[in-house]
Parts: sequence; structure tokens; C-alpha cells
Amino acid sequence: MSTRLPLPTTPPRIEGSTTLADAYGRVARDLRVSLTDRCNLRCTYCMPAEGLEWLPTADTLNDDEVIRLITIAVTRLGIRQVRFTGGEPLLRKSLAPIIAATTALRSDQDKPISTALTTNGLGLVHRIDELKSAGLERVNISLDTLDPVRYAQLTRRDRLADVLSAIEAAVAAGLSPVKVNSVVMPGVNEIDIVPLARFCLEHGAQLRFIEQMPLGPRDRWDRSGMVTAEAILERLQGAFELTSAAEARGAAPAALWEATAIDNPEVHGKIGVIASVTRPFCGDCDRTRLTTDGAIRNCLFSRTETSLRDLMRAGATDDELAGAWASAMWGKLPGHGIDDPGFLQPERPMSAIGG
Ligand code: SAM
Ligand code: SF4
Repeated sequence: MSTRLPLPTTPPRIEGSTTLADAYGRVARDLRVSLTDRCNLRCTYCMPAEGLEWLPTADTLNDDEVIRLITIAVTRLGIRQVRFTGGEPLLRKSLAPIIAATTALRSDQDKPISTALTTNGLGLVHRIDELKSAGLERVNISLDTLDPVRYAQLTRRDRLADVLSAIEAAVAAGLSPVKVNSVVMPGVNEIDIVPLARFCLEHGAQLRFIEQMPLGPRDRWDRSGMVTAEAILERLQGAFELTSAAEARGAAPAALWEATAIDNPEVHGKIGVIASVTRPFCGDCDRTRLTTDGAIRNCLFSRTETSLRDLMRAGATDDELAGAWASAMWGKLPGHGIDDPGFLQPERPMSAIGG
């Protein structure tokens, strides 16, 4: 069972500003905000076909509450980047005003806050101008196959054309870089690895292959059968010359490769591979997560949460909220522990945590 922690005690309450440091020397600079647990797709690796209960509206943070917590994170806790996710964040009508309120803030380095969106792309075409005007900088669009039948099987909805137009619109709008997230599943879409890579290189998008993590329906993940980063690279090497990209990786989860198509040197660019399971990057993790209902999770796989919503609704001051957030991060474990014999999948699904 996930447990709700009462007000944690270490480090002590703060006044003014501090950072979201943990006991292992990491400092969180990147905030992931889940704006809804709802979604208009039902990806098999993320959600069951039916029966998932949505959070009641009264339990979810309203716009003022979300903006207050983002403001505390930036102005008191050293957050420099905010990524909006979900569920499907485009389902939140007030997404643009929330982004605008975020981009109006300045970081501890007196720089604008970098904002990004992770989305399945449905309806992005109609929202892109509004989001860009609000200050949205970057977007990750999820797409696991280019085959319409497989897309409909994988997401349980026939919406491939909408996603393809979303990628085109995001590139045309100059959101840079436009990234495409692809989760690779055994026996499902390994066949799509090379076509997806070619498509993204040809359309000005950067592909990120992601190892499937144990976060969706419990019968959908098996450590021994999963498609590893190594297997993904092996497939890519059949069609592309790959060399390790020069830039420093820092806290970024993706290992980057320069790829050039063997049959056409004009098709080239960067491809990332995120080996969350087989080559964990927990030691460099700089993320903190705010769930739709206002809980802080210091890791995707965390089994404890701190509800800032409850504190806020009980009248906590900004200092008290910042202190509770800092304490929640202080207790971050050194790693996600997926390979530990006692590993237990978090109780909340990925869609409710915010991917
Ligand atoms: N609905 C949006 C979307 O699909 O992009 C945002 C939320 S989704 C949970 C965020 C990202 O998590 C997506 O790129 C999705 O493919 C990825 N994801 C979901 N379940 C996953 C799993 N079990 N393992 C790895 N990635 C997963
Ligand atoms: Fe929805 Fe994103 Fe989960 Fe797919 S991965 S079901 S689009 S939240």
C-alpha cells in the first residue's frame, strides 16, 4: 500500500528559499506536474481498457492551487524547468493559462522558466498557437507505431492521423526540439523501431525510445521478456550508422545517438534511448513530481507521498508548504529498485502519477 506521510520532519521547515536536495546529494530542478489523471486513449502499457476510477474533481488541485505550488517550487525551491503531463494534459482546459503563469516566473538564476508538455497529441493542432503564445517551449508527443491498425490496437482508439498532424504542427510552430516518445514492447512494436526512426529523422522530430517500465496494468510487464535498450540499438544498427552524440548528458534520461540512414546519408539526426530499467540513471535524477491531487512524489516508483493539497487546504503558509516539499525530497531513495527481489510496483498508475 502507498502511504500518505504526515508532515515530515527532516530537513527542518524553511523560511525564504532553499533547494530540493536529497540525502544522496542530488538536487531537483525539474518539476513534473500532472494536470489530470484522465485520458482520451487507453494505451495497453499504461491503462486498462476500462474500470480505472478517475479522481473525484474535488480531490484534484484547482488552477489557483496548481499555480501556487508551481510558484513556490520556482521562487523558493530552485525549480528551473516545468513539464506538464498527465493523464492527457490537453484535456485540462486551463492548460494555456497555467503555462502562462509558469513562464511569467523567474528562476533562482533570474532566467525564464523552461516549460515543456508531454502529450498524446490528440487535439494539439487546435491548441498549438494558444500554447505557444502562453510561452510553451518544448513538446514530447507519444507515438509507438506508424501502422494504423497497430496504433488502434495499442491505444484502443483509431487516432493515428491526429498524432501525425500534431507532430507536423508542432514542428511547423517551431517548438524546439519536438520529441517523439516511443515505448517498445516485446512482440508488439519492435517491428516499428526502424520506421519510427526514419519517420522522425525525415520530419524534423527527435525520437526517444523508452524501455517499458513496470507502471501500467500488472500483467503487461515482465522483466525477462522486455525489449532492452541494447535490443533497440541492435535493430537500429541494421538501418543506421550510429555514433554516440557528443553533448554531455547531465540529468537527461536519454543516451543520445547521431544516426545516419545507411541507404540515404541525407536522412540523419539524433535519436535517444532511455534505458530506465537496464541502465538506470537514478544517480543523476533531478526530478520532483506533483500529482493531479497535489501529492509530492520524489520518484516515479516512490511508495510514499506527501499531500501538499491537504496542508494547503488546512491553511499552511508558503513557507510551510516549501518545508514539507523539501522534506519529501530529502527522503528520496538512491534508486528505483526495479531489480530488487522485494520490488513492488507503485499503487498509482503512471497516468495518475504523471509520466
Ligand atoms: N498522455 C500523455 C502521453 O501519452 O504522452 C502524457 C502522460 S504519459 C503517462 C507520459 C509518457 O509515459 C508517455 O510517453 C508514455 O508513452 C509513457 N509511459 C506510459 N506508461 C509507461 C510505461 N509503463 N513504461 C514506460 N513509459 C510509459
Ligand atoms: Fe493516455 Fe498517455 Fe497513458 Fe496513453 S500513455 S493511456 S496517452 S496517459
